[in-house]
Amino acid sequence: MPQLTIALTKGRILQETLPLFADAGIEPLEDIAKSRKLTFDTTSPDIRLLILRGSDVPTYVEFGAADIGVAGKDTLLEHGGTGFYEPLDLGISRCRLMTAGVTGQAAVSGRMRVATKYVNLAKQYYAEQGQQVDIIKLYGAMELAPIMDLADEIVDIVDTGNTLRANGLEPRVEIAQISSRLIVNKASMKMKHQQIDALIDALGSVVQEQQRKAS
Ligand code: AMP
Repeated sequence: MPQLTIALTKGRILQETLPLFADAGIEPLEDIAKSRKLTFDTTSPDIRLLILRGSDVPTYVEFGAADIGVAGKDTLLEHGGTGFYEPLDLGISRCRLMTAGVTGQAAVSGRMRVATKYVNLAKQYYAEQGQQVDIIKLYGAMELAPIMDLADEIVDIVDTGNTLRANGLEPRVEIAQISSRLIVNKASMKMKHQQIDALIDALGSVVQEQQRKAS
């Protein structure tokens, strides 16, 4: 059987991905948390895992360095393009992509300064709203920008809203609902379709079962 390489997003998404994969019969042979390695063999001899930064997962899959990936929809929207298929919503790491600003402060009516790591997404969203913006790219701690008057709004992911509140911000508009998705390289889908179909079916059943239990 050909090798399947699956690129996973490290961090919080990985914590929720590994139990789904385990239920589908795929477990890393070593404890990922205790290792500095970036590739892991699994209990399925034909499946290997890569542990990557989320924003690198679509790149690996698009160029075929990985056959399959798991990444947040926020990352996929920001990456853009049509370089891969997205056959399965894993229903994990759910959150919302939102605009936020200083609590009680009215949204700016003219040209607005927006701080975010989602530069492409934000550009597209504000353009659709007919709102002129200057996008300020940040790599973290977006919540600080409005308070320090670096920006009028931020675009960021929000789960409980605690981080916003703790920094004197309030959510404004929901841009998209986010969850993690399985993505597949287009050529791999053709060349390894039997293996990949089987994996999508197995994970799909696990996801359905999880959602049935949760409801
Ligand atoms: P919260 O305070 O619960 O709204 O969480 C907000 C922060 O947690 C955000 O700034 C994100 O960096 C991070 N976060 C929340 N949900 C997710 C998720 N599903 N995936 C990745 N990061 C998240």
